[in-house]
Amino acid sequence: MKFNSLNISNEMKKNLDSLGYTEMTPVQEQTLPLSLKNRDIIAKAKTGSGKTLSFAVPLLNNLKTSLFRIQAMILCPTRELANQVANELKKIARYQHNIKITTLCGGMPYRPQVHSLSHQAHIIVGTPGRILKHLGEKSFDPKDINTLVLDEADRMLDMGFNEDINKIINFIPKNRQTLLFSATYPSDIKNLAKNILTNPTTIEIEATQDKVNINQKFFQVQNKDKVNTILRVFDTIKPESTIIFCNTKIDCDNLADDLEDKGATLLVIHSDLEQRQREQTLVLFEARSYPILIATDVASRGLDIEDVDLVINYDLAFDTEVHTHRIGRTARAGKGGNAISFVTEDSLHIYDELESKETLTSTKELNENAYIPTSLWQSIYINGGKKQKIRTGDILGALTGDIGLNKEDVGKITIQPMCSYVALRKNIAKATHKKLEQTRIKGKYFKVYMK
Ligand code: ADP
Ligand code: MG
Repeated sequence: MKFNSLNISNEMKKNLDSLGYTEMTPVQEQTLPLSLKNRDIIAKAKTGSGKTLSFAVPLLNNLKTSLFRIQAMILCPTRELANQVANELKKIARYQHNIKITTLCGGMPYRPQVHSLSHQAHIIVGTPGRILKHLGEKSFDPKDINTLVLDEADRMLDMGFNEDINKIINFIPKNRQTLLFSATYPSDIKNLAKNILTNPTTIEIEATQDKVNINQKFFQVQNKDKVNTILRVFDTIKPESTIIFCNTKIDCDNLADDLEDKGATLLVIHSDLEQRQREQTLVLFEARSYPILIATDVASRGLDIEDVDLVINYDLAFDTEVHTHRIGRTARAGKGGNAISFVTEDSLHIYDELESKETLTSTKELNENAYIPTSLWQSIYINGGKKQKIRTGDILGALTGDIGLNKEDVGKITIQPMCSYVALRKNIAKATHKKLEQTRIKGKYFKVYMK
């Protein structure tokens, strides 16, 4: 969809066009028609998806330039982000000559900000702490604010701004449009949103893949050669983290046996596993305690694993949408990734529908010391979680304090309702496991197991 289709001024359209913004990104396409009707919106979308424009357009649309009063407030987690937003806003607003944007961030001298505010501004962008300070000292009058934006809300909460944000809300008019943007949508954001937004529409943009970042290849292979081809792919790409998709449970189990015979350590996830086992499997894979996950599509639905180096389609997916979904596990967050798909005689018809037609037949011989993915991490299960009031810091504290590990020896920590997992460097895992049995966490001893 093009910006032209939106209900915005011709000047704004022309300016967006001159900036090279013609087609809307998915988050813009889904939020703008609603936000231009003054709806409150919660939008979850990854970094780089074009969120700034999603709030800049309705905000500028709400603005009366002839009124020299602050009409919009944008809260950001850091000074760098606030400056980025202010700069982008200036570009988008440049078709209107006299729009004044003031940034109010902590870590900057306070007095000049007060001085700048005395000259009036239309829009303020800043960090919650500093904005709250100005509000408390009445450096500016918030009564004409009609648009509030919370940008990168998850990071603002991570940085402890929850209370400041709630206090800021008490200063500004209730009758306003509020737009909340976040890369993730955990429960503390939901709670924050409840107090701040009115009847919001929630929009979630699936992180579909920027194809350019995925190095995608198709190999024409016979079924009997698939395992060896996987080993060659491992040796070429040397992945730390791989997901292999099969179309059936039986294929998953057989492939697991074959690869284990070759010395690989791996996890399998399919619908035979109970929910609890599936969750644990994902935790262990995400913590990189296992370098390979073999999965069916059903089991991988909604699985949000980032940072996989390699996706292998042992079987080609039955349709292109599933294929895209599968390979979207790699090359997340702008990093490069690899996707290898096996094409057999009987799957050629599916392959025809796929865009890329590059097919390779690998001939490289495997040598003795070919690379087999192994893990540097070992996960430890702790029989206590949120219900027992355990937090990440408690586990990290026990390991680096009483037990004396270096921070670098501790990997991903996952806290679940009734249990927790911590990944440790393999070489110290066993000894640490013993010590952890005899170390208090949150004042108590917990059962711990190697996983
Ligand atoms: P986010 O806040 O979601 O991380 P940004 O708003 O910073 O993303 O946008 C990321 C980049 O994409 C910026 O360089 C921006 O100029 C560009 N961009 C945003 N929307 C469009 C669009 N519709 N067409 C082309 N480029 C865009
Ligand atoms: Mg942004």
